Amino acid sequence: MDSALIVIDMQNDFALKGGALYVPEGEQVIPVILKLVKTASAKKAPVVFTMDWHSENDPEFSAENWPKHCVVGSKGAEFVEALKSFAEKSEIVKQPGHDKFPGTNLEAFLRKHNAKKLFFCGLATEYCVKFTALAALALGFEVFVVRDAIRPVDYRDGLAVLRELEEKGIRAVPAEDAGRMLRL
Ligand SMILES: [Zn+2]
Repeated sequence: MDSALIVIDMQNDFALKGGALYVPEGEQVIPVILKLVKTASAKKAPVVFTMDWHSENDPEFSAENWPKHCVVGSKGAEFVEALKSFAEKSEIVKQPGHDKFPGTNLEAFLRKHNAKKLFFCGLATEYCVKFTALAALALGFEVFVVRDAIRPVDYRDGLAVLRELEEKGIRAVPAEDAGRMLRL
């Protein structure tokens, strides 16, 4: 198998209206991601779900002026309902930072499965999707972002990030193409 699907931070606090750090239109990517996850599973491509994961008094909250979000044990930290059962059958990576590689099993898991092409979806475009995708590129993976399965906190930043990623060699592809490219 040479491809893997990486689903970034599809947790209630980001994806649902009223969540502590709601990403506009976050709920709209849920069905798109659900379809990708089903496609990946059918083709036996590995799927990773990342979680933003903070302690109650994480210094990030005050240092970066974020509202408190994705606190261990809270409802907001849980995966969105539609993806939960799939996430629980997948590899789960918990990391409080924007780049989900440091200190986690992510790279080892991808290497073990011989994944060379990585497809990123989830939230939010200009934070965890961007930083984890760039880290993956630096590690030598071929990296794609699924453009209709991500959303930014700020619309203009999202567009700028897609341009930046494309300049660096990360291709933005529609979910339909990603589904076709995910293969053994
Ligand atoms: Zn966070």
